Amino acid sequence: MIRGDQSVCPECGGNLKCYDRVQRIVRTKARKTKRICVRRLKCLSCGMLHRELPDFICPYKQYEAEIIKGVLEGFITPETIGFEDFPCEVTMMRWKTKLMHFI
Ligand SMILES: [Zn+2]
Repeated sequence: MIRGDQSVCPECGGNLKCYDRVQRIVRTKARKTKRICVRRLKCLSCGMLHRELPDFICPYKQYEAEIIKGVLEGFITPETIGFEDFPCEVTMMRWKTKLMHFI
């Protein structure tokens, strides 16, 4: 898993090239599902595939206000809401630092 602004392989430092796109299903707390498109990048040096999670697929507006509020109040984690690794801790931290004034 790499971030959208990362252009080198986290394993070996080689250059990454766009390989394909995969759909990823994200579950929300209310058991609804959303589909997101994730780019996969292939390392030109070691051949490893990395999924990209750019910032634009984790904006606060994709989440229910209730979930964001729970995160901000500190009692919801990715495990709690069944998000697998999404939103990630970094996303939650970003909500906490940037989105306080939206709630
Ligand atoms: Zn590599």
